[in-house]
Amino acid sequence: MIRILRNLDGNSDLNSRHEVHLVAAAVLDDVPPDLQWPLPRPIDQIAHHLGFGIRYVTVPDPVAFHGCLHNQQIYVSRNAAPWLRRFTIGHELGHAYLWAGHAEWECNAFAEALLIPSDDVRSTTAQITESPLPLQEWARRELTDGAVTRLVQRYGVGYNALISALGNYGCIRDVLPGTARLTGDALFETYLQYYQALKGRDGPA
Ligand SMILES: [Zn+2]
Repeated sequence: MIRILRNLDGNSDLNSRHEVHLVAAAVLDDVPPDLQWPLPRPIDQIAHHLGFGIRYVTVPDPVAFHGCLHNQQIYVSRNAAPWLRRFTIGHELGHAYLWAGHAEWECNAFAEALLIPSDDVRSTTAQITESPLPLQEWARRELTDGAVTRLVQRYGVGYNALISALGNYGCIRDVLPGTARLTGDALFETYLQYYQALKGRDGPA
């Protein structure tokens, strides 16, 4: 089990996110390449390799409960969509590996690092665009050729996690890299508004 003490120099979100990604990279060092490089990453097999069991459970309120971690067991709502089950496993692994007192958004950042590898995003988006696109232009590319959907499918994540990662990795011109928390920020909602406005303007296909 890897343990990394948090560097307490400075406490900005940017430093925290950087440290979360360092912890995730250290965890992945213990995972064999054949579990790291099929995409989408087989997060359930990665969790098993790290010594965690996964239990899919039926819960009374699937909207309120996505998952939890208890005694090396990750409990995941079986009613959740596949992409949400995958992200939940990554998020709960964050609870297992991050420092004491970590925040929920930092677990989202941990899941992002595990499921949406930044180097692969940069090389893949380089084939789409040479420079970061404005968020509205990402919405337009989705409408015209499904560029966002292709990335969603490549990493096996939800649209919200993918847009958040694009922002964090510097692929969206109007987003300061490293600042999207996934929950609690309006990035994905703004993307959706752009998408729906463009779709409405162009009319139904
Ligand atoms: Zn959590």
